[in-house]
Amino acid sequence: MKSIFTFFLVITLIISSIYNTQAQDLEPRGGEFIFNPDKVPCLTTDQREAIKIETNNNIEALKLQNKLAFNESNSRGGHPLFIWPLKQADGFSYNNTWAISGYVDHNSAYPNQLTDYNCGTRTYDAASGYNHQGVDMYLWPFIWNQMDNGQTEIIAAAPGQIIAKNDGQFDRSCDFNNNIWNAVYIQHNDGSIAWYGHMKNGSVTTKNVGDMVTLGEVLGTVGSSGNSTGPHLHFEIYTDNSYTQLVDPFMGTCNNMNSTSWWETQIPYNYSGINAALTHTAPPVIFPTCPTPETPNTSDSFQVDDTIYFAIYLRDLVAGTNVHLSIIKPDNTFLYDWNFTNQATQSSGYYYWYYTGVYDQEGEWKWEVTYAGETVTHTFNIGALSVDDEVLEPITIFPNPTRHSISIKTTKVLESASVYDISGKLIKSVNFNETSAYNIDISNVSKGLYFLSVVSNKNEQESFKIIKQ
Ligand SMILES: [Zn+2]
Repeated sequence: MKSIFTFFLVITLIISSIYNTQAQDLEPRGGEFIFNPDKVPCLTTDQREAIKIETNNNIEALKLQNKLAFNESNSRGGHPLFIWPLKQADGFSYNNTWAISGYVDHNSAYPNQLTDYNCGTRTYDAASGYNHQGVDMYLWPFIWNQMDNGQTEIIAAAPGQIIAKNDGQFDRSCDFNNNIWNAVYIQHNDGSIAWYGHMKNGSVTTKNVGDMVTLGEVLGTVGSSGNSTGPHLHFEIYTDNSYTQLVDPFMGTCNNMNSTSWWETQIPYNYSGINAALTHTAPPVIFPTCPTPETPNTSDSFQVDDTIYFAIYLRDLVAGTNVHLSIIKPDNTFLYDWNFTNQATQSSGYYYWYYTGVYDQEGEWKWEVTYAGETVTHTFNIGALSVDDEVLEPITIFPNPTRHSISIKTTKVLESASVYDISGKLIKSVNFNETSAYNIDISNVSKGLYFLSVVSNKNEQESFKIIKQ
């Protein structure tokens, strides 16, 4: 018996060593994601004209009321220097949530006469005579999920005054439909104007026309209102309200509009990086029929005999560049450690590998990805700590969503409760005694999705999703 066992052990070791040398070379599944492949214009000529009239009417009205912040005769300094107009909302933990699908088109001819600021063709035009006049930043990887969760906020790239805004419009556009977008229009100190378009319905700032916004203030979240094929921000800038001079905020050889960058720190033309490294129970369903949200199938909790899918979500992949990948065991040895070479240049792409029957340790594992100079480490658990193992008698938690605290109602005697963020990081832990009320104050916790893990005095455990508002 012992020898048979040893024999199997040896076979297992041989198989696992084959895996260790060969599995790394497995071809990944996945592929490219192209946003707006049909090159749908973000605004029609009529819509653009209507915005110009509306903003100018409001500017006139503010002037008459002595409320216009911009003063032509007393303009302060030069043009603003922008920070990036997108920011991940609190409580979410992707490494990055967007990619760029189109810059400003500097070639006035059309169609298919394309020149971006860097003399490349990462822009678009249309046979109707439209040359793209803004920067399009789309959500990536789970574009509709990210929109529904409000995961990406649109923030003021520069401080200024709201000179117009629009909300209440349908926000799940998949194509050119002549719909109106939800948007905020800001005039800066120097008179220049920024348009932030395609916002999610109901997300637009409650501030009014005439109110001031500070640098980085949240203006709304990314949506797909107006002429749009999916959630993205269209960011369009003019030097003043005469709207005679468009601005491309990116400085480059082929920018024939302005000679300086309008960014505080201009990102590289190919801003290669990792948006997320995630683990899944099944392949992510990433391209459902628009506008159905994706089914990410993500999980951070597995059993040793599960099939685990290891996925990377990259932006601005450049052909021939390397991605370094490691699956690291709880004892910090490698299960696999390998390189993947991008075969094509893509503005976004996802790739995944999957393995079964190779998880020989229980505990906290790491899925570590290095690309374009940055490393993202995603932790996940295999084995004993699974939240599904022991389930308590019915427990009620309320209110959920909550703004201040969570109360737990149960017949059990509870020992402790802990709040984790979606990356598994412990945010708050409370120990209970016989006289404790089962309340957890989370008023200081940022807005977002969390997990509440409750442990009884018999070491039974159960987890709940909670939303902090
Ligand atoms: Zn656009």
